[in-house]
Amino acid sequence: MWQQQKFDIIVVGGGPAGATFAQRTASKGLSVLLLDKKKRIGTPVRCGEAVAAEDFHALHKPQKNWIRTNINTFCLIPPNGDAVTIDLKQTGYILNRSIFDNDLVKFAEQAGATVVTNAYVNAVTIEDDFVTGVKGIWNDEPFSVQSKLVIGADGVEGRIGRFAGIKSQFSLKDLIAGYEITASNVDIDKNTCYFYVSNKVAPGGYVWVFPRSSAEANIGIGISGKKYEEGNSAKVRLDSFSRKNFPGYKEEAVTMGGIILAKPLKKIVTNGLLLIGDAARTVDPVSGGGIIWGMKSAVYAADVSIDLLKNGKEPSEANLLDYQEMWMKNEGKQVKRLYRFKDAIYNLNDDQLNNIARKINKLPAHKKTLFNVFRITFQNKPALLLDIAKQFVGI
Ligand SMILES: Cc1cc2nc3c(=O)[nH]c(=O)nc-3n(C[C@H](O)[C@H](O)[C@H](O)COP(=O)(O)OP(=O)(O)OC[C@H]3O[C@@H](n4cnc5c(N)ncnc54)[C@H](O)[C@@H]3O)c2cc1C
Repeated sequence: MWQQQKFDIIVVGGGPAGATFAQRTASKGLSVLLLDKKKRIGTPVRCGEAVAAEDFHALHKPQKNWIRTNINTFCLIPPNGDAVTIDLKQTGYILNRSIFDNDLVKFAEQAGATVVTNAYVNAVTIEDDFVTGVKGIWNDEPFSVQSKLVIGADGVEGRIGRFAGIKSQFSLKDLIAGYEITASNVDIDKNTCYFYVSNKVAPGGYVWVFPRSSAEANIGIGISGKKYEEGNSAKVRLDSFSRKNFPGYKEEAVTMGGIILAKPLKKIVTNGLLLIGDAARTVDPVSGGGIIWGMKSAVYAADVSIDLLKNGKEPSEANLLDYQEMWMKNEGKQVKRLYRFKDAIYNLNDDQLNNIARKINKLPAHKKTLFNVFRITFQNKPALLLDIAKQFVGI
């Protein structure tokens, strides 16, 4: 029985980050236990399901049934409705996260990981200042299991890091109230992602409409926790938006919850434990997208863990710092930079948003790029212009 074994690694959370980590480490011969509180990995889905294709290919070879549709156009709709349409240099996919998440965990299992679902982790065990395993409830029975290293891949509301003493508090201004529906009976371009920016519709946030096909879409809203108005919840706002923009739409599924658009955590390792994915705040603080960066953090973390455990080195905080530094140097600095854009973007008023759209629409087609959207948005904020240039060349 898995409860009696001592594993090299216990991964808490079987989302894209946890499953990617488990597959990579198990395939190198490490003994890996992956625990998830869900009964079935991949459901319910709380995600717009959009990813950039090139980044995605670098991490996993896409299977046909993971992809609902291809994205090649970005459409920004300002308050006055004067839409800005941009052909994307880097195309994207709308995934079927249910199948994708499930398959990633299957791959981890095929690589040799032990996967246990319906297992809720509610504590970590600590001996001599080292995390040595986890405790929880599996099928209504308590369990306790040991490992050399524990991975907190438990998502945005994750508590594993906190159990081990890692500070993961965030400020209310970084909390977005999210509400998303899957709607059928909509008429939509199946290759375009739509973003509606308007303080009347989504104060301090935006509405996204991501096509699943030409008749089905993920329609979601994020509104700033600071701008919440009594009686005007994210649900009320999204219902009204959907009725107006997609009359006759049919609601197929609903998800809701907080989205944290914060800086990456400064500290994501401690003796015997590290955090990856949303649990480490690897989410783009402007868009809320976190699938790709979550999986990238998993790859860095896996490579450092393999090196340590295969070479008999202790997974101490000092040794795990290699992961933290690698993540911050290669990706985290971009998350930090995007965080600096976030407030400036979400504090724009409706006149400013209309004005930006008007300026972009005056550009010739070949100059309508995401870089120019950012450049025009921040032309009165020179301090951010250098950051934008860096962001778009990836340094
Ligand atoms: C409304 C919404 C829309 C989004 N749209 C997009 C999008 O279009 N594109 C994009 O890139 N990102 C999007 N995101 C973000 C994206 O969903 C996350 O960044 C991504 O799922 C992070 O992966 P993860 O593996 O870190 O965590 P998760 O996918 O959240 O997985 C965490 C897993 O841990 C398990 N778990 C949690 N606690 C415990 C516990 N105590 N014990 C056992 N198991 C536990 C959970 O059951 C879950 O399976 C969206 C998020 C929201 C909320």
